[in-house]
Amino acid sequence: MTSCASNPSLPASARDLMSQYLDDEATAVEIVKLFLERIERIEPRINAFLTVADEAGLMRDAKRADNMLRGKDESETSATTVTGIPFLIKDNISTQGIETTAGSRILQGYAPPFNATVIKRLKSAGALILGKGNLDEFAMGSSNENSAFNPVINPWGENRVPGGSSGGAAAAVAAGECLISLGSDTGGSIRQPASLCGVAGFKPTYGAVSRYGLIAFASSLDQIGPIARRVADCADVTNIISGVDPLDSTSLDTGIQDYAEFIGRDIEGMKIGVPREYLTEGVERGVRNAFEKALHEIDSLGAHIIETSLPLTDYALAVYYIIAPSEASANLARFDGVKYGMSTDTEPNAREVAEATRGEGFGDEVKRRILIGTYALSAGYYDAYYKKAQQVRTLIRREFDEAFARFDALLTPTSPTVAFEIGSRTQDPYQMYISDICTIPANIAGLPAISVPCGTSEGLPVGLQFIGPQFGDRAVLQLAHAYEQSTQWDLEPSIR
Ligand code: GLN
Repeated sequence: MTSCASNPSLPASARDLMSQYLDDEATAVEIVKLFLERIERIEPRINAFLTVADEAGLMRDAKRADNMLRGKDESETSATTVTGIPFLIKDNISTQGIETTAGSRILQGYAPPFNATVIKRLKSAGALILGKGNLDEFAMGSSNENSAFNPVINPWGENRVPGGSSGGAAAAVAAGECLISLGSDTGGSIRQPASLCGVAGFKPTYGAVSRYGLIAFASSLDQIGPIARRVADCADVTNIISGVDPLDSTSLDTGIQDYAEFIGRDIEGMKIGVPREYLTEGVERGVRNAFEKALHEIDSLGAHIIETSLPLTDYALAVYYIIAPSEASANLARFDGVKYGMSTDTEPNAREVAEATRGEGFGDEVKRRILIGTYALSAGYYDAYYKKAQQVRTLIRREFDEAFARFDALLTPTSPTVAFEIGSRTQDPYQMYISDICTIPANIAGLPAISVPCGTSEGLPVGLQFIGPQFGDRAVLQLAHAYEQSTQWDLEPSIR
């Protein structure tokens, strides 16, 4: 008999669960049952899952994971850091044979015939994929209220948004419905929901993780990355999912062999810039207080905190809201009622089928982005908007390069506010867009960045963001981990 413990306790992290496995205190089969029960109990309050995986298939995967963990896998695949670890995957990442909607009615019923590269890598490493995570439609949004399948509720407060667009991914980790999730981050969609739900969210350097099979939003910005309760788990998962992929010509050789390499090293003497532009009036007092306490904590760990200025930060949001919708308007052209998902095929010809399908299938925010993008790319406006935005993008990137000649990392709040009330910003797109004012610059410049919890304000989590230079992922993880270990924020319970 290989099975052992009858009642494994809910682990806080993948590394904790791995030590339970190695000490024979749990089996993957038991863990799947434990999480499926939790999902059944908690989901009615959270709505983080759009699809829960079929139990029979999960049990097969769990048995294989147990064999890998015990060195008995028939194919002799050895166990990895994600073997037997329960995951949730944002529903804009393609999963073979499993409905992948990107939170949109237009893709309802679409089950991709292939797996995204990240899914292939997770599965062969023995990960357990519990289901698909709710999100803002096509990852456009900061609150999950743009999902065509009802919003996600933040486990920290039933009238609060979880952030977005990876709201299901962050809420599920916070609520203990999975240990790790994969999200996508185009303008903050991993880090901002992680911040609002009190968990860690890591966006690797642009290109570090293949986007093959990610339903594209804005291709020059999109990046897949992990959300977990602990920083070390984020590093471990990145090791599994990263690396050059012939199927994604933008994937890069970062030269990083081990994302967890610097985890646990002390941070004494590291130089950290705090750009004042990220602490504008829009930053809530409670967020500012938590941020300032975090600065003291990091200072007491021996790092040097130095105030600095990145004046071009002020243009990042405007640049983003030209470039992202422009790319989205091109990427979303493929949803024409012929190839994918739903089709309004009552119309006489292909053009009318496409128009009717798009009219019914896309939600308001997606239509708004397509309109903005099409406008910015049209003859006569291209130079004034799109080209100008690309030029400013280059300047922002250079400003970061100059900063990283002096600093190992930059430190900012992740979100200017804590989780806001459901419905409070839906009528005002600008109010919604400024939720990402602190996260968007890292996407504009392709930089690695992580959010970790740094306290609470009015009983809701506040997040701290470390931004590093291109390929500086390991230092960003090292700093975030050192801070996390010196505080107890990652242990705050959110739901029982
Ligand atoms: N909130 C931003 C937007 O709506 C970022 C989204 C994202 O990163 N996917 O575009």
